[in-house]
Amino acid sequence: MSFTLAIVGRPNVGKSTLFNRLVGKRLALVDDQPGVTRDLREGEARLADLRFTVIDTAGLEEATDESLQGRMRRLTERAVDMADICLFMIDARAGVTPADQVFAEILRKRSAHVVLAANKGEGSAADAGVIEAYSLGLGEPIRLSAEHGEGLNDLYSQLMPIADGFAERAQELAPDVDVSLDEDDEWDEDAPFVMPTAKKPMQIAVVGRPNAGKSTLINMILGEDRLLTGPEAGITRDAISLRTEWLGTHIRIFDTAGMRKKAKVQDKLEKLSVSDGLRAVKFAEVVVVLLDAAIPFEQQDLRIADLAEREGRAVIVAVNKWDIEDDKQDKLRALRESFERLLPQLRGAPLVTVSAKTGRGLDRLHDAIMRAYETWNTRVPTAALNRWLAGMVEAHPPPAPAGKRIKLRYMTQAKTRPPGFVVMCSLPDKMSESYSRYLVNGLRADFNMPGTPIRLYMRSQN
Ligand code: GDP
Ligand code: GDP
Repeated sequence: MSFTLAIVGRPNVGKSTLFNRLVGKRLALVDDQPGVTRDLREGEARLADLRFTVIDTAGLEEATDESLQGRMRRLTERAVDMADICLFMIDARAGVTPADQVFAEILRKRSAHVVLAANKGEGSAADAGVIEAYSLGLGEPIRLSAEHGEGLNDLYSQLMPIADGFAERAQELAPDVDVSLDEDDEWDEDAPFVMPTAKKPMQIAVVGRPNAGKSTLINMILGEDRLLTGPEAGITRDAISLRTEWLGTHIRIFDTAGMRKKAKVQDKLEKLSVSDGLRAVKFAEVVVVLLDAAIPFEQQDLRIADLAEREGRAVIVAVNKWDIEDDKQDKLRALRESFERLLPQLRGAPLVTVSAKTGRGLDRLHDAIMRAYETWNTRVPTAALNRWLAGMVEAHPPPAPAGKRIKLRYMTQAKTRPPGFVVMCSLPDKMSESYSRYLVNGLRADFNMPGTPIRLYMRSQN
């Protein structure tokens, strides 16, 4: 049973550092300057045998106006509301500041479970601050050093009993077990086939160039102002994820400004951001490549779409800002033509036009995503595959390198997400590209799998 933990606290106290340590891979951005971590970001955390979702928040600020700081505070309050447990972090070296007191007050009112952590707790410089932390009225502070990994045992001891309480309650509410998904892209003969479960949210990444409208689209899907959009340049600096229900589908959605061109934003942040975009693709099941209708299929768009295909994701191309297109029919024809020419590896993948701003076409986008996801999960029975294979071989025999014809003995589907097939044959190394392509295109057409990446593996019997 898992729970959600939100890490809250002033900027620069070490929230992202702890988040990174818990998540174990660098999903959040750490930097010395305050306010770098501006949005909510989510990761799957591990702490000994505990597994939970952790949310890293923007800094808690006292400002309540509509400045960036004010909005950050509102975001944080929302994170608190989303979380089962709040980890309130102060900087033990700085001691308790007036801002800490204000937000301790908010947390006492707003959150059922608050765990207090005095970070930067390594060394004697932190002694006074740790003692002072008791004055916040949130119980015994955990002395942490997020940077050095100290105090995690104590964190565990405080989280454990709370987590146990959730587990008992969840067991009463839903006694069935959770099924985990096989994320592995490699063919594994022993891996059981795992049905996609309704319980796991569908993981969607929205990728595209700066200003394509990613944040606008995600806000529209979320139905609230959870992401910061606004005049500040480079505001969505790295990949963040949010969970929501969209037209009845549980999704976890990734936003990334990773394709942001170098310039404007500082170089260091920029480099981190690009890899964040790639990480979002790796993490996602479904990748929505969002294009700007005015400048579609630019180099960057093609690169990310190709990457998503090679990573084996279900890909949907969405053309945004359709509201400002005049000659929609001609434009659509031209788009389809470019799509086919520039991204042949995605032939048959959905192309949808949307307006993130007005919300038009979002229902179609949802349907396209559902269909692509289903296709991506396609399972073809072995008997049907082998009947099909016999027909394919009869219509068009495999190559005969050096006079010896390759024999295709039988085939089976080894995996889904994306569909992967194994053909048992003689001389697998001699199989030609073109014959493999013939089989893949045949599978696509005959088993109704448009647009999804299909993997075909040739194996010999022994
Ligand atoms: P956030 O803005 O609250 O998320 O803080 P960050 O995680 O970005 O950390 C701010 C700064 O504090 C960074 O320079 C970190 O390296 C540093 N920091 C984080 N945790 C510790 C710690 O346990 N000890 C010390 N000495 N520095 C830390
Ligand atoms: P991001 O950089 O990809 O996250 O792009 P934003 O969501 O910040 O949007 C960039 C700009 O395009 C903003 O000024 C949006 O208001 C505008 N925009 C986004 N979607 C649409 C749309 O569907 N139609 C129109 N006309 N403008 C849009």
